[in-house]
Amino acid sequence: MTHSQELTPEALAGLRERYRAERERRVRPDGTRQYLGADAEFGYYAADPYVGEAAEREPVRDRVDVAVVGGGFGGILAGARLRQRGVQRVRVIEKGGDFGGTWYWNRYPGIHCDIESHVYLPLLDETGYVPEWKYAPGEEIRRHAVRIAEKFDLYADALFSTAVTSLTWDDTAEAWIVATDRGDKFRATYVITATGTLTELKLPGIPGIETFKGHTFHTSRWDYAYTGGTPDGGLTGLADKRVGVVGTGATGVQVVPMLAEDAKHLYVFQRTPSSVDVRANRRTTAGDVGADHDGWARERRDNFLRIVSGEGAEEDLVADRWTASAGLLEKLLPSFRRQGDRAAFEAAYEIADAAKMNEIRARVEEIVADPDTAEKLKPWYRYACKRPTFSDLYLQAFNRDNVTLVDTADTHGIERMTERGVVVGDTEYELDCLIFATGFSVGVSGIHSGRLPVRGRGGVQLLDAWARHGVRTLHGFTSNGFPNLLQMGSLQNASSVNFTHILDEQAVHAAALVAAAEAKGALIEPSREAEDAWLATLAQDAPDHEWFHAECTPGYYNREGRGRPNGPIAYPHGAVAFHDLLKRWRHQSMDDVLRTRTTARD
Ligand code: NDP
Repeated sequence: MTHSQELTPEALAGLRERYRAERERRVRPDGTRQYLGADAEFGYYAADPYVGEAAEREPVRDRVDVAVVGGGFGGILAGARLRQRGVQRVRVIEKGGDFGGTWYWNRYPGIHCDIESHVYLPLLDETGYVPEWKYAPGEEIRRHAVRIAEKFDLYADALFSTAVTSLTWDDTAEAWIVATDRGDKFRATYVITATGTLTELKLPGIPGIETFKGHTFHTSRWDYAYTGGTPDGGLTGLADKRVGVVGTGATGVQVVPMLAEDAKHLYVFQRTPSSVDVRANRRTTAGDVGADHDGWARERRDNFLRIVSGEGAEEDLVADRWTASAGLLEKLLPSFRRQGDRAAFEAAYEIADAAKMNEIRARVEEIVADPDTAEKLKPWYRYACKRPTFSDLYLQAFNRDNVTLVDTADTHGIERMTERGVVVGDTEYELDCLIFATGFSVGVSGIHSGRLPVRGRGGVQLLDAWARHGVRTLHGFTSNGFPNLLQMGSLQNASSVNFTHILDEQAVHAAALVAAAEAKGALIEPSREAEDAWLATLAQDAPDHEWFHAECTPGYYNREGRGRPNGPIAYPHGAVAFHDLLKRWRHQSMDDVLRTRTTARD
C-alpha cells in the first residue's frame, strides 16, 4: 500500500486534529522571548575557538572603494563579483579569524551541507573545482570559501577578528565612515552588507542554566580541546563522559550520530522531532555531474533553482529529496505555483503533504527498534512547518545502548538545570557536558540587530526610519536616504533553499550597481517613488501563507508559533522570476538609481 492510498478524508481530518494537538502541546506564551543571546554572562559562548586571542594590529585609517561587512559566502561573492568588474580596493571586514561565515563558525562533528555540493558551492566554473561528494563536508566548503577569496585577492585588504560598530554617511565627502571594535575608522565610497541571516547563536532560557557546573558550549563554537577529534569524529575526550545535547534540528541531526559513536552515554533532549528523510550521500565523479564543459555548474544550479521554485524543468539534474519534494516547499517560499484554482491546489497539496509525512513517519518505525522511542521520534506537522532534514545515521543512533532520547514536549523543553545536569519531569539527568544545538536568532544580524547603527543622510538612523515608515527598499538592496549602501540577504527580495545561489545573484547585482555608479561618477540611491513602486509590487500578489504557519508547531519559521506575517516581505513570484526581473532592470532602468554627486571622487 502506498502512503497516499491511506489518505481518505477521515484520515486527513485525523491528521489535522493530531497536528493541532501537537502544536498546542508545544506553543509557549513566552514565544521568541524564551531564548537568550550570547551576551553579558553568556558572552563566552560566542568566543572564537579557532583563533584564540586576535593578533594586535594598528587601527586602519584609510579609504577604500567598497567596504563589505561580513566574510561569509555573501561577502566573498560580493568581493569576487566586484573584482570581475575591476574594482580595486575592496575591504571585507569579518568577525571570524578567516573567510567562511557559517562554515567558519560551524565545525561540529558530522557537519555537511545537505544541499548538493555541486549546486551549493559557488563559482565552481570560475575556480575549476569539482566537489567529490554529493553532499560535501563542512571543511571542504570552508576551504572553498578560502579558495575563492584567494583567487579574487580578497585577503590583501581584509580585516579579520573585527566587528563593524557603526556606518555613518558623511554628506560632505559623500562617503561612508566605517568604525570597528578594533579602533579602525576608514572611509568607503560604497558599503555592501552581507551579515547573514542565521548568525547570532541562541541559547534556551532554561531556569538555572547559569548554575550548571559541567562543561558546556554551542554547536557553532565546537570545543575540540574538550571533546578531542575533528569534524570527522574520533571524539576521544568523551569516552568517559555523560553528554547531553539539546536540540534536534538540522544541526542536531548531524551531530547526534557522531556523539553517539564516542560518548560514554548520550542523552538527546528533544522538544520537536525533525522530519528525517533519506540522504544517500555518495562519492561523485566529474562525469556523474556533467562537469565536462564550461558553465556546467551554472546550468546545474539554475536547474535546481527552477525545480525547487516550482518552475519545472525538462530534466532533474540533482535528483534528490529536495527536488523530489519540491512541490511541498510552496509554503516555505513564494512561487508561481500559487496561481490557478486555489482550493484545488490546497486540497492536492494537503494530500501530497500527508503522504510525504506518512512516509517520513514510516521510516522512523522501520529504522528505530524500540517502539516507544520510535513513537517519540515521529514528526506530527506538515512538511514545510520545519526545515526538512536528511540523514541515514540519525535515527539509527537511537538503536545504540549508550543513547537515550529524552522527550521534553510535555514540559515545553527542558524544565530547569542544576549544578549537576538537566531536569525533565521527575528525573535529573547528571551530565559532564551539555551541548546546545539550539540554533540561531533569525534576521537580527548586522544592521538589523540594532547593535550596528547605520546613519544615513542628515544622521538619520536606518532602523529609526524603518520603525517610522516601515521597511523600505528597492529590490531589497538600496534605500532612499542611504546612498551607496547595498544590502545582501533576505529582505524584500526572493529566496531559496540553495542560499549561496541567491547570494551570488545578489553579488552580481550589487557589483553591477557599483560599476555603473563608478562609470558615471554617480551615487546609488533610489527615489522614494521607486521604493513605493517596489513595495506595491511585493504587496500585489503577496501570498497568504499566514494561516498555514499559524497551524504549525512553533519554530523559527513562524516566530515560535505566532504565525508568519503577511505583507510585502518577499517577492511573490519566486527566485527565478526575481533574478529575471533584476537582469531586465539592470539593462533598462539602472540609471534611475544613479544620482549626481555633488563632490568629486577622491
Ligand atoms: P534550529 O533552530 O533548527 O533547531 C534548534 C533546536 O533546538 C530545535 O530542535 C529546538 O526545538 C531545540 N530547542 C530549543 N530550545 C529548546 C529547549 N528549551 N529545550 C529543548 N529543545 C530546545 O537550529 P539548527 O542549528 O539545527 O539549524 C538552524 C538552521 O541552520 C537550519 O534550519 C538550516 O537552515 C541551517 N542548517 C543547515 C544545514 C545544512 O546541511 N544545510 C545543517 C545545519 C543547519 P523546537 O523545534 O521544539 O523549537
